[in-house]
Amino acid sequence: TDYRPADDRYERMVYRRCGASGVMLPAVSLGLWQNFGHDTPHATKRAICLKAFDLGITHFDLANNYGPPPGSAERAFGEILRSDFRGYRDELVIASKAGYRMHPGPYGEWGSRKYLIESCDASLKRMGLDHVDIFYSHRFDPDTPLEETMGALDTIVRSGRALYAGVSSYNSQRTREAVAILNRLGTPCLIHQPSYSILNRWLEPDGLKQTLTELGVGAIAFSVLAQGMLTTKYLGGIPEGSRASQAGSLSPKFLTDKALASINKLNEIAQSRGQTLAQMAIAWTLRDAAITTALIGASKPSQVEDCAAAVQNLSFTAEELALIDRHAND
Ligand code: NDP
Repeated sequence: TDYRPADDRYERMVYRRCGASGVMLPAVSLGLWQNFGHDTPHATKRAICLKAFDLGITHFDLANNYGPPPGSAERAFGEILRSDFRGYRDELVIASKAGYRMHPGPYGEWGSRKYLIESCDASLKRMGLDHVDIFYSHRFDPDTPLEETMGALDTIVRSGRALYAGVSSYNSQRTREAVAILNRLGTPCLIHQPSYSILNRWLEPDGLKQTLTELGVGAIAFSVLAQGMLTTKYLGGIPEGSRASQAGSLSPKFLTDKALASINKLNEIAQSRGQTLAQMAIAWTLRDAAITTALIGASKPSQVEDCAAAVQNLSFTAEELALIDRHAND
């Protein structure tokens, strides 16, 4: 069936400037880390992506290894690009990354030039693209000179494989070093991708937000829903099919009575704001301009719909923020 995106898609989303760049990103972006592997029907993946674009979500975040198996999320997204998003490439900001283990052997992970450039080529091939919009170093590699990793990003951009460079999960100090090298090479760093949520605030004591603001680099926060914990789904137990019900990245051992009590309190605050907990969690990560966009994952289109509507209330009173802090630390 022919897909035609919703005519009002750009009225439904808010767009925010990414650092000091020319790029505007949707306040909510969609990531394909989970639910885009071989264990999910293609129709579901397609429905999630089309729903996102209909809601003005123009930014799709991928990586070489998303699946399982590694590569399958990019392949699935390539299919959707060909079948439905054909004709809309210019309206999409597509990102990929290399850094985590993609294939066996010494050239299948971390930060060498060998791995990053070949992996970028493989990602382009899987998605059927001639360029991605953003290409990231997925993690800092303590054993490779940062000049080599950043040099690879510079080559990737200069050769037209990507329009912009980014780094993910680098701390403040490494970010400063990486950005300085990229600036010297003439390929500025567009964006940083850190984890960040009401329940995971490592970047605040690290000073990353101030660093990025100072450097003019934007940010896309990942796991803003703490993999689903910052929604109402676990309040009544672990539902079938949920991430915590499957072996993988969200261990049920995080869902302690203490955590659930805290999530309950946070849910009450969200309700008093007229929002769902997911919406409040998204709005919270966006509460200052240092974070350009909140990167969510979804296992069904209705979740994308819920999350995208966070943009209807992005402001907080000082009292609300204090209450959230209190209950996040319960
Ligand atoms: P989230 O914290 O957004 O968790 C997503 C999960 O939350 C969904 O799979 C779903 O769980 C649940 N959920 C989402 N919306 C709702 C809703 N409205 N109501 C109820 N439940 C909801 O993020 P992820 O951990 O999935 O990460 C998002 C993206 O960030 C990834 O796809 C990836 O692109 C990026 N990322 C980057 C990393 C990096 O190293 N750079 C590392 C991790 C992620 P369920 O499946 O149970 O329905």
